[in-house]
Amino acid sequence: MTQGNNYRVLVVEDNPVASRMLENALLSDGYEIMTAGDGIAALNILKNNFCPIVITDWLMPRMNGIDLCRAIRNGDYPGYVNIMIMTAMDGQDDVITGLKAGADDYISKPFNRTELAARLANVTRILDLEKSLKKASREIEILARTDPLTTIYNRRFLFEQLPREIQRCRRYQHPLSIMMCDIDDFKAVNDSHGHHIGDLVLREFASRLSAWTRCDIDWLARYGGEEFLVVLPEIRVAEAAGVGERLRREMAARPMNANGFNLEVTASFGITGFDLVPDPEPDPELFISRADALMYEAKKNGKNRVMVASC
Ligand SMILES: [Mg+2]
Repeated sequence: MTQGNNYRVLVVEDNPVASRMLENALLSDGYEIMTAGDGIAALNILKNNFCPIVITDWLMPRMNGIDLCRAIRNGDYPGYVNIMIMTAMDGQDDVITGLKAGADDYISKPFNRTELAARLANVTRILDLEKSLKKASREIEILARTDPLTTIYNRRFLFEQLPREIQRCRRYQHPLSIMMCDIDDFKAVNDSHGHHIGDLVLREFASRLSAWTRCDIDWLARYGGEEFLVVLPEIRVAEAAGVGERLRREMAARPMNANGFNLEVTASFGITGFDLVPDPEPDPELFISRADALMYEAKKNGKNRVMVASC
């Protein structure tokens, strides 16, 4: 019967024969095993190898099982460590001492194979649950920073991440540019083709911005309806102007195919930044509104153009 789901168990036991018996039982149940001869050796292993399950003897040289329980509970590990004490000291007072020290469960020595398997099945059930909760919380985290329509970052993430980006560029004395991009006459797309086509245009626009900027360095967020902000770390304002001009030209040159409609989509760009981010750090909102104002100037000057100014 395999039930261990590859969970790693740390067996802590000073008696080699007892240790081997336990290891064999665990291996045949599908667990991965690590072993230690006393509490100190166990803590050393846990430092570098996280084990979600520890089965420990009580009486051992150097550090006994009770002190090991206390030390684990005071330690800092990437996940919860389930501790089972396995010993012949199984009087009621002993059990209470073990539980008080932080053990989760208790099993008498010599162990009964079926009882051990049943108790470990309870532990793995909890570990499976912990795993699925962690996965769900990671998914929620991703959802919380994603714009559902375009799947790029949302405004909330922008205001979390931009201050960090400013800080980082200032610390390393690197330049930082930002680019506000707004689709021209987007309302007309919605009015004449419907919101479904409008949504396709927004998605395609975001995916082009993402594909046409540097992977893993530049990042973009949906700022508002048809307004997107691209953050360009390590790029001077003059270079960012070149990037903006290239995006503008490519966007205008390649009509979008949306549900059979061939749509010519242009955009206006406002670019600003720091060749060196000054101290104190600039206010992210003011920084963005500077790019926004330049983008509006591009609109006023006839759309499908790029306006640039350093901060
Ligand atoms: Mg012992």
